[in-house]
Amino acid sequence: MHGENMQKSKKILLVEDSRLTAMVIAELLNKNGYETETAVTGEEALQKISGGFPPDLVLMDIELAGEMDGIDAARRILKSRDIPVVFLTANTSGEIIDKIKEVKAYGFVLKGTDKAALLSTVEMALKLHEANIHAGMFERLFENSLNELYIFHPKSLKFVAVNRAARKNLGYTIEELNTMTPLDIKPEFDIESFRRLLNPLASGEQERVMFETVHRRKDGSLYPVEINLQFFDYEGEKLCLALVVDLTERRAMEEELKEKEATLSAIMGSARDAIIMLDGRGNLIFWNPAAEQLFGYSREEALGKELHRLLVPDEHVYELYSQAFKHFQLTGEGNAVGKTMEVKARHKDGRELDVELSLSALRFRNEWHAVGIVRDISERKRLEEESRRKEEQFRLMLEGIPSPAWLVSRERRILTQNKAAALLFGTKVGDYCWEGIHGGEYLLDEYREAFEKNGSPLPGTKCYFCHGDEALVRNEPVNSEVGLADKIWDTWWIPLGEDIYLHYAADVTKYKKIEEELRRLSITDVLTNAYNRRYFIQKLEEEIERSKRANRKFSLIMLDIDRFKSINDRFGHNAGDLVLRNTAKLIKNRTRKIDTLARWGGEEFVILLPDTTVKNAARLAEELRESLSRMDIPYVGHVTASFGVAGYCPGDTVDTLVQRADNHMYEAKAAGRNCVRYNEEECSKRENSSR
Ligand code: GH3
Ligand code: MG
Ligand code: MG
Repeated sequence: MHGENMQKSKKILLVEDSRLTAMVIAELLNKNGYETETAVTGEEALQKISGGFPPDLVLMDIELAGEMDGIDAARRILKSRDIPVVFLTANTSGEIIDKIKEVKAYGFVLKGTDKAALLSTVEMALKLHEANIHAGMFERLFENSLNELYIFHPKSLKFVAVNRAARKNLGYTIEELNTMTPLDIKPEFDIESFRRLLNPLASGEQERVMFETVHRRKDGSLYPVEINLQFFDYEGEKLCLALVVDLTERRAMEEELKEKEATLSAIMGSARDAIIMLDGRGNLIFWNPAAEQLFGYSREEALGKELHRLLVPDEHVYELYSQAFKHFQLTGEGNAVGKTMEVKARHKDGRELDVELSLSALRFRNEWHAVGIVRDISERKRLEEESRRKEEQFRLMLEGIPSPAWLVSRERRILTQNKAAALLFGTKVGDYCWEGIHGGEYLLDEYREAFEKNGSPLPGTKCYFCHGDEALVRNEPVNSEVGLADKIWDTWWIPLGEDIYLHYAADVTKYKKIEEELRRLSITDVLTNAYNRRYFIQKLEEEIERSKRANRKFSLIMLDIDRFKSINDRFGHNAGDLVLRNTAKLIKNRTRKIDTLARWGGEEFVILLPDTTVKNAARLAEELRESLSRMDIPYVGHVTASFGVAGYCPGDTVDTLVQRADNHMYEAKAAGRNCVRYNEEECSKRENSSR
């Protein structure tokens, strides 16, 4: 036995007040491979145990010499240490045996019995203690396990033990569980079905049985569990250990995963973009319905095929892709990875497609995978091309216009302009049309003030002359003349769609001047520069209208140069013309701006005097007569004229009024010329005569 036990020898504390007995026993123990130490009293034993190396076992004499006896000493020791104590006693009275039972003793040895009995008791005590330690450890493991552990009797099915995790989850106390069986917490089983489950274990046919079911808590709620049953031997009978895992969390995670998967596949399935995935060899492993739609290949046709073979339009591009993909396989990197770019692809029917590709790398199962999201941009390309063409057309159209021209948006931004616009007005594309042209000088007041105050324009800011909105609303060209920068512009706003109009302005200053000159000529007598008869009649009609409405007075003076024929005869026609011009000049100098002088015919003039009574007109006529008679005309000398004055009377027409003035003028001729004739009372006289 000594030889077998090569581990470090066990230490025994021998507590014995008889030195002789102590020596004999120590010698025996030493001889059998134990180390010994001796204490004479209980106090000494306690001291030895608390300091230094505690012994593996205490051999304790009950009848000790000191204050405490062996039982007391053992009790004290066991309070702080789990050390097996074997008692030595000379006495086996009932009283002593009862006392021994009170402490957790590992047996007793009668003093003076044979050596073998002593040794085997010590050995047994050591083994028992070791076994107790193991049992305690297993008990703690069992109790503290986070898994639910149950031990039940396979025949009666009664629970033997249920650990804390299980009790906590179920909500039962140990006492309640002591009267229960697994059937009380497994609603899916009855006694028959449960026994059938245990049969293969009972027969030894199977070592363990695993199954999933539900457990019912004390509060009636259920939770899913995975159960692992196995039998084990305990004190000669078989017990069943159930290891139970609460699956609630796992199920929730599985559920969540399933939901995520369902969501993802719903997204992939309904995505309008093609979503495809390549494995490490470049073969397709994912192909959604949008991909089928876009490329024309069904899922079955596409999956497992090499993507580039399928979709790349030509051999050269295929080579490039293949090279790039080799690099990708090794590194998960590539020029295209993590980017969005436009590429060409080939449809199943051979058509070339413009697509936008977003590529990302994904590493799983130890391989780089490529995920591509592909969008059909053919339509976008077409629209882009169309709008580019349209823009080009507009640009050409603008350049074809010789005047400054702009394309302007509804917001009055310049979209395009021609060279003339940049040159003449210095406008810039992107600016507001009112911005560059005149620096806000032509803005409506409210807009200008807001712009000056805030630095940013109010919505709808525009020049006072702008008709852009009107053109868009009416959807037809609007034209107006605008005076700007000392020039006159024939300005157009021509809608070219819902939100754009063409704006251009032709400089018509020159034509306007010609037009004005023509008009002036059409109403002027060329020789004298006085108005002509036609214009005078028009003017007179207007004045009659005005007087009718506003009940105002006005008068006419009619004059005829005296003996003009003889002037022509004596000094020539040119001299006659000079007389006419000088006469007109003299009259113009002496009349007001609002008065109108016209050449009535030959050497006859007529003057319209608004807001003037006959009397005052006659006064003016007298003045003119005198001035004229005193005027010295080169080559000719002095001329005179005869004057007739008539005032407007209600009911007068151009003819009646002119006729009256003419009549008075002839009265002057008849009266010997170079005089003025009129009738101050002629309106009332007319009233009288009309009665
Ligand atoms: P009276 O005093 O009665 O008015 O005599 P008169 O000679 O002025 O009148 P008459 O009607 O006989 O003559 C008018 C002349 O005026 C006739 C015509 O030759 C001349 N005459 C008309 N128009 C022009 C013109 O534009 N230039 C010149 N130089 N003479 C003109
Ligand atoms: Mg005359
Ligand atoms: Mg005449």
